[in-house]
Amino acid sequence: MKPVQFAPLPDDAMLRQVLDGLGAIIYIKDTEGRLMYANDLLLQNFGCALSDILGKQDDAYMDARTARTFRDNDLRVMQSGRRLMIEESMPDPVTGTLRWFKSVKSPLHDARHRLVGVSGVSFDITRQKQAESQAGQQKALLDVVLDNLGACIYMKDQDGRYLYANQRVAESFQRPVRDIIGRRDLDFLPPERARSHSRMDQRLFQSGQRLEGEESLVDAHGQLRHYWTVKVPRTLPDGQQAVIGLTTDITELHELKEQLLAQAATDSLTAVANRRCFYEHAVRDFAYSCRLGHDLSLIALDVDHFKQINDQYGHLVGDVVLQGLARVCAEAVREGDLFARTGGEEFAVLLPATGLGTALEIAERLRRLIAGSRFSPDHPGLAVGASFGVVSRQADDAGFDALFSRADRALYQAKRQGRNQVVALPPDSGLATDAVPDGTGRAEA
Ligand code: GH3
Ligand code: MG
Ligand code: MG
Repeated sequence: MKPVQFAPLPDDAMLRQVLDGLGAIIYIKDTEGRLMYANDLLLQNFGCALSDILGKQDDAYMDARTARTFRDNDLRVMQSGRRLMIEESMPDPVTGTLRWFKSVKSPLHDARHRLVGVSGVSFDITRQKQAESQAGQQKALLDVVLDNLGACIYMKDQDGRYLYANQRVAESFQRPVRDIIGRRDLDFLPPERARSHSRMDQRLFQSGQRLEGEESLVDAHGQLRHYWTVKVPRTLPDGQQAVIGLTTDITELHELKEQLLAQAATDSLTAVANRRCFYEHAVRDFAYSCRLGHDLSLIALDVDHFKQINDQYGHLVGDVVLQGLARVCAEAVREGDLFARTGGEEFAVLLPATGLGTALEIAERLRRLIAGSRFSPDHPGLAVGASFGVVSRQADDAGFDALFSRADRALYQAKRQGRNQVVALPPDSGLATDAVPDGTGRAEA
């Protein structure tokens, strides 16, 4: 049998090579802190020869404060008899900038197990520390930005669990961020709302496309608030899908928009619907009534001798009359009917699903209401009359304008017949079939 061949054991010189090539600072100190061994990297670091520092304590080749801290750590190791893994820092001997080391220090015993000192291995982690500190600063900056953007910003995983939530989310859930991370909307929100969020998230995961939308919610104080949400998909470094969301409270903007829309549809003098709003409704209702074969009626009304009222009492009183007339008429029409100011002293009522007979009754009711009202408190004798034209949609009406011009014709006829009266034009007729004359509609005591 061939004898087993062993490789020769490494000699001291080989072991030194290993210790010099490790990329770490390696040293051995005795119980008094005197250097017994140092590898090449330590010598390079302090810019000295082994002979200069062998047998010397740390303060012989580094500043006193650092030497004291190192010595304290060495003593801890020797006293505890245990290996210690710590971060140590010291000013660079050449540049003076702070350098960081990860050090493993172990107690050292002789063959008879007597403590003879401490061995240490120190890895330079200055770059890593700088990167960490930079990342920490960037995170702090990002946190300030994200917390002060005025939007809820969050990240959720595919299970809907929060991976990130900014301060705004914490405020809206009324609990600290740490209590939100790892939990789901269902843990904080009413089930319906949580489900609605989850549906949007699922749509995003399925499509992989950015989503945006508005939602209106009643907040903790019972106030209706409006939010604009943008969600974007994101693949995390571990391959997991996540959603990043930004939800902005747009209540003020929303209210402003509503106000502007309302303003754009409202007559500024009388606060009833203006001509534009009236036409929008009229065109829509006309198309709707054609499609479904429903009735649609229209009343046009014009204040009688309004010029004379202006001339006699002044424009301001004329305005007061228009305001009062609009108020009483708007209050008198049914819900679903639209009373609007279509011109200076001209108004109209749009009556969906209403036949000519009912429209005529409504017009007559308004006529009497106006004639019986006194709109200017300063002039209790100022009575106002108005003339009315009433029509209904007929099969050959090409559009709402056809209806409107027939109503105008009926109104003109009411004026011609003496004012303060209602004239209705039946379908397919250029003639009035119904007129309710009642004087001139203008009187002053
Ligand atoms: P008719 O019975 O034939 O309708 O006579 P009228 O005087 O009412 O008709 P006309 O069209 O001659 O006059 C309408 C007047 O309405 C003229 C205009 O100055 C006045 N007017 C229009 N808009 C306003 C307004 O906003 N405020 C006031 N005070 N007057 C207005
Ligand atoms: Mg007029
Ligand atoms: Mg008039």
